[in-house]
Amino acid sequence: MTARPSLIVHGGAGELSEGDDPEGVRQLAGCSTAARAGFEVLRRGGGALDAAVVAVRCLEDDPLFNAGTGSTLTVDGEVECDASLMSGDGRAGAVGCVRTVRNPIELARRVMERTPHVFLVAGGAEEFAVECGIEKLPPGALVTAAMREKWRMAVAQRSASRSGGTVGCVARDAGGQVAAATSTGGMLLKRRGRVGDSAVIGVGTYADDLAGAASCTGAGEAFIKALAAKSAVEAMRSGAAPDEAAQRVLALVRRFGGDGGLICVDAAGRVGFGFDTARMARAWIDADELEGSGFKAA
Ligand code: ASP
Repeated sequence: MTARPSLIVHGGAGELSEGDDPEGVRQLAGCSTAARAGFEVLRRGGGALDAAVVAVRCLEDDPLFNAGTGSTLTVDGEVECDASLMSGDGRAGAVGCVRTVRNPIELARRVMERTPHVFLVAGGAEEFAVECGIEKLPPGALVTAAMREKWRMAVAQRSASRSGGTVGCVARDAGGQVAAATSTGGMLLKRRGRVGDSAVIGVGTYADDLAGAASCTGAGEAFIKALAAKSAVEAMRSGAAPDEAAQRVLALVRRFGGDGGLICVDAAGRVGFGFDTARMARAWIDADELEGSGFKAA
């Protein structure tokens, strides 16, 4: 089967804050760069999972996003990353509360490929990373000056607005396979040990070649209760277009008191998204190779 590949990435749902416009422009550029890097893999005949990992890794390495380098901080001022990925043939891997790994999405992939498990967390995940030969970072290596400042202000004001900046990608390759990948530092001032939706298969990330794939961002606790990504894929299975599937999931998430956004690709390669926060950076390249991007609502 030869399909026309397509892909969409997100750079996290969140609120607008002062100075957000220049940040928005830079986030858009970051998403477009990641989308192109992922699409290049697809153009060369690579798989959807490889493309999604390349795009997410690119965003993890960009300090502007709340994933990998630049992750948000726990109440104790530390980074704890969550990431997950799934390929439409049913393979999946995930990590939670990982502090010493530059690219948590790569570690999630190793969990999928080299263990009989789906989900490793904290010390066990970090030990496994060392076994895989992944560089062990010293404490604080993923903390940026900008994030430390944001954390200081949030601690001083005793209030944490959502940091935004979670990243994700869904793709369909020329073989018609789909994949999804998601990575985050989580919520600002979260408790040590808190794991959100982004690490959970079926919630932050889901893919099924017969229906489509989804990657979420937003108030993790509400997304968990809504089984968000799996719900989006089920909506596409029953014929909803990707945009419509996203809207249905957001309505479910609102019932649990949360907001956020998600990106979707269906089995036919149509890409779509939805969000009910003030912003969600996103960029895509569709099956006609048309590029698009946005930051605020259209
Ligand atoms: N969903 C992420 C979490 O709850 C945060 C976000 O997407 O902004 O950890």
